[in-house]
Amino acid sequence: MLEYLFCYIGVASLKRDENKEVDNYAKLKEKVENLGICCNSVTPEEYTRLMCPKCKGGQLIERSLSFHMSWKRNYALWRCFNFECGWAGQILAHNSTATMASDGLEPLDDVLAAYFAKRMISKDTLERNHVMQMAGDQIIMAFTYRRNGMLIGCKYRTLEKRFWQEKGTDKVLYGLDDVRDADEIIIVEGEVDKLSVEEAGFPNCVSVPNGAPQSIASKELIPPEEDIRFSYLWNCAECLEKASKILLATDGDLPGQALAGELARRLGKERYCPGTCCQISVMVLVLVNLGSEALKEAIECAVPYEMQNLN
Ligand SMILES: [Zn+2]
Repeated sequence: MLEYLFCYIGVASLKRDENKEVDNYAKLKEKVENLGICCNSVTPEEYTRLMCPKCKGGQLIERSLSFHMSWKRNYALWRCFNFECGWAGQILAHNSTATMASDGLEPLDDVLAAYFAKRMISKDTLERNHVMQMAGDQIIMAFTYRRNGMLIGCKYRTLEKRFWQEKGTDKVLYGLDDVRDADEIIIVEGEVDKLSVEEAGFPNCVSVPNGAPQSIASKELIPPEEDIRFSYLWNCAECLEKASKILLATDGDLPGQALAGELARRLGKERYCPGTCCQISVMVLVLVNLGSEALKEAIECAVPYEMQNLN
């Protein structure tokens, strides 16, 4: 009966001798509420579906956040089951920080380890780049985005190449910390490409966070503050403007060429980068089929990009 009452009368009315426990629970509840999770309807020790404060339930406006709070053990954990959100985390009453994205992640399982092994991406490279997978029963890769070592976002990818990114994070280049002091920077089209290039001996590589556009925009460049699709370049200017050479290693298809063009016109001499822009066409397939030596050779033989095609 006592348990039952605790479930429904809420923290403020808890009357138990163990004042400390009550305090702990109140502290936990406050921390959870500070994250925007409304837990008044929560039954401790059980899983409850709540409205997710991050995605507000997505398009279906459903209660997508699976939430669990333990009164006995003083912790709360949650995961949003809206596929496009995936917000997850856990918090302890006495832990000063709530950990966000990383808590919904776990080390790569055998399926994903094999997936990367087939692409000749080693365990060391995966670990160095903190490649994880989403916790749960689905096989979903998680590429963690970091800035100055801090986890600032996560991009998810299924084996069927479906992508989505955690909302509300600044768009930055993937692997940004690897080019912080680089004189030469290689920019590729996807996270797996970045890992492949690193495997070929070039850790000074970053990937764009949102793939390639369908075609090059014919209109003139818009000011950085309105340049939403390429905001990651402006957000990472502090690293890019130090480089004397930037190599655009995109796929050879039309979107890949369009991406190279769009990057070149922003990074080229008309904007902040004093370096020379070059383009080569390498795909992750090069690494898969020919090994990293061929990729290395392609990178070393890159030719200057023809800027006149752009304007
Ligand atoms: Zn959500």
